[in-house]
Amino acid sequence: MLLDYHMHLEKGEFTKEWWEEFYCRELENGIREVGVSEHAHRFVEARYIYEHLPYTEKWCDSSLEKYIGFMEELKSIYNVKIGIEMDYFPEKEDEIRSFLERYNVFDYVLGSVHWLRCGFGFDIDPNDPRWSNDLEEIFLDYFDRIKRAINSGIFDIIAHLDLIKLWGVPLPENIDEIYEDISKVIADSGIVLEINTSGLRRPVKEIYPSLKFLKIISRYDVPITFGSDAHLPEDAGRSIRDTYTLIKDLGFRRLTVFNKRRPEFIDL
Ligand SMILES: [Zn+2]
Ligand SMILES: [Zn+2]
Repeated sequence: MLLDYHMHLEKGEFTKEWWEEFYCRELENGIREVGVSEHAHRFVEARYIYEHLPYTEKWCDSSLEKYIGFMEELKSIYNVKIGIEMDYFPEKEDEIRSFLERYNVFDYVLGSVHWLRCGFGFDIDPNDPRWSNDLEEIFLDYFDRIKRAINSGIFDIIAHLDLIKLWGVPLPENIDEIYEDISKVIADSGIVLEINTSGLRRPVKEIYPSLKFLKIISRYDVPITFGSDAHLPEDAGRSIRDTYTLIKDLGFRRLTVFNKRRPEFIDL
């Protein structure tokens, strides 16, 4: 069964018409299980998690209540799951936990790292001067946060595992060691790994995680989900069918379906 648990409606309103543009494209791509995963950073109710970052007020201007209400309405008509993409900040673990306890309506929670030390939002601008800092340090900071996110136990799914490569920067020499380390951490934690196809649409032109990384992770029996990370209807479910075949060939066996944060594993 093809599944897509990573999609954002944020470029439009919460209307059935806008949602259907995504949903129809998912169906055309053969996707049978769909989930919406709005960014937590867009909601006023989550502002306290983000107040240490620049741009917060501009971003956190939507209503989470409205999102939840809209998704519950969709659920009564379509086979759709309510997800959320939460940023991870090591210093905000308590705040993230309290937010998820308060709004315990989600079918799954994606954990993401988009922010590094000193508020460096690395996926915003490839010309950010901080990209000229030591690349190895940037990668180490990123993967240290990924590791903590996985071990925090806060999230159901770890999203776009090697997003840090998105601009096609050269990988540091010790990258294999990092891949080995993170693979073990994933296997030990029991977290579900997202196979995210949006990297194919970025300068790096690779899925997350990369083939090399996936070959290492495939030695462990890690459960997975898929995500197109679509922000526009034309990207909904994109490249998931081809990627599914690749993942199966690599030896992954368990696809994960979530209901109210309870995972169920089915054969790929
Ligand atoms: Zn993301
Ligand atoms: Zn996303």
